Amino acid sequence: MTAPLDVKVEEKLYQNRYQVDASRVHIKVMPHDVPSPALRALLTACPARCYQLNDRGQVEITADGCVECGTCRVIAEPSGAIEWSYPRGGYGVLFKFG
Ligand code: SF4
Repeated sequence: MTAPLDVKVEEKLYQNRYQVDASRVHIKVMPHDVPSPALRALLTACPARCYQLNDRGQVEITADGCVECGTCRVIAEPSGAIEWSYPRGGYGVLFKFG
């Protein structure tokens, strides 16, 4: 069966399942007062919308819905703005439902 061409990203993301590792966050945003351009770019670049601004104007991440695409790793890890690693085995996104 082929997927219809007009499926929205949000609908595809909803098909995924996640095994959240509460004892080990696999992406961290480094402490900052004002977000760098690289951090600000993550607000729109992450397809799963994991990055948000908090009420102090700082970028935060909720990595529970991360699809491990690596986009934020390419944009912000080289400058040291984030730390990125894959989830431990058995944790993270499960794509077999999408
Ligand atoms: Fe978002 Fe992809 Fe980074 Fe996960 S790896 S937080 S989905 S940009």
